[in-house]
Amino acid sequence: MKNAYEICVVHGDGIGPEVCQATLRVLEAAFGEALPLRFSEYPAGAQHFLKTGDSFPRETFEACHSADAILHGAAGIPGINHPDGTEAGLDFTLTLRSKLDLYANVRPIKLHPGVRSPLRDAAPGAIDYVIVRENSEGLYAARGAGSLLRDEVAIDPLVQSRKGIERIVHFAFELARSRDGAPQGRRRRVTCCDKANVLRSYAFFRSVFDEVAAQYPDIEAEHVLIDAMTVHLINRPSHYDVIVTENMFGDIISDLGAATIGGMGMSPSAELGDGNGFFQASHGSAPDIAGKGIANPYGTILAAAMMLNWLGLRHADPRLIDAGKRIETSVTYALADKSVLSRDIGGTAGSLEITEVICAGLRERV
Ligand code: ATP
Ligand code: MG
Repeated sequence: MKNAYEICVVHGDGIGPEVCQATLRVLEAAFGEALPLRFSEYPAGAQHFLKTGDSFPRETFEACHSADAILHGAAGIPGINHPDGTEAGLDFTLTLRSKLDLYANVRPIKLHPGVRSPLRDAAPGAIDYVIVRENSEGLYAARGAGSLLRDEVAIDPLVQSRKGIERIVHFAFELARSRDGAPQGRRRRVTCCDKANVLRSYAFFRSVFDEVAAQYPDIEAEHVLIDAMTVHLINRPSHYDVIVTENMFGDIISDLGAATIGGMGMSPSAELGDGNGFFQASHGSAPDIAGKGIANPYGTILAAAMMLNWLGLRHADPRLIDAGKRIETSVTYALADKSVLSRDIGGTAGSLEITEVICAGLRERV
């Protein structure tokens, strides 16, 4: 437990600054006078690249590295690229992931009361699972290692190491153990999502999953092929608890899952390593709506609640765990009791109004 935790805040591009500002206000309201967080703001992203020629300054990296947690808005603007053609905004997230070894990308997919799902019959509580995406290897780790032969054939390797699979699968089982409120009448469950019937790398992922699963007899383990998974997440999402999967598959089903709970604006994301935690919403910078005051801040606010829970568990600090829970409760209050919905989820509320209602909920300790 510390007196105060250092939070490095990187607002980034597009709607990033709007959703970050909203989230900082909510964090302040959650603690009142006794704020145990110290925010320091650092630049990165496409806009900063336009201004300075540098999309991820060294000081920003150092601040991220030494902070207790990193809170991010969103990075990148389509068309703003480095001279080599790579997206200027991508640098920040990709470099953090690899240099800080943020190997677990955790995406809770939860339908909040008050939000309509495009799925028929999706009652609140029916969708409440977590996708644990392996974030350090798999197909995306091939970035830069792929090759194009004589402009005729392109090849990208899919790499899965025993160490990489073991740590992500352990992470998923530990998460299943620690999740609040086991679904009624059944054990916790971890689902391995792969394509073991076709590719060796996925068969290896599955066999290491089975070895690790044997160490958690209290938790049910099962396998589902990725193609079947896309169907199940539409037809029977309530079956799932924790899903662990390879990098690219995790990327794809995270967006699919987000669509079932109101879209990217409702979907928080945490990228965790053994030392650092990086928290943001799952959406991008949405430049089409930037500066209009209509961005949905719920995803970033929920990411901040995850941040408090993660920090609280790490440092055995009940103040943070409690504040994280109160933020979740106030989000439910705003969505369900007050019906304060942004446009992307079918309402008319702006970012400010949403923020104010959540802060009021926190002050009134709803
Ligand atoms: P990235 O490549 O960074 O993932 P993307 O191309 O997937 O970005 P986003 O920026 O996530 O795209 O957003 C796609 C569209 O969804 C936006 O143009 C915007 O209209 C809408 N959108 C995304 N996030 C939000 C939000 N928080 N509030 C309201 N609308 C949003
Ligand atoms: Mg996207």
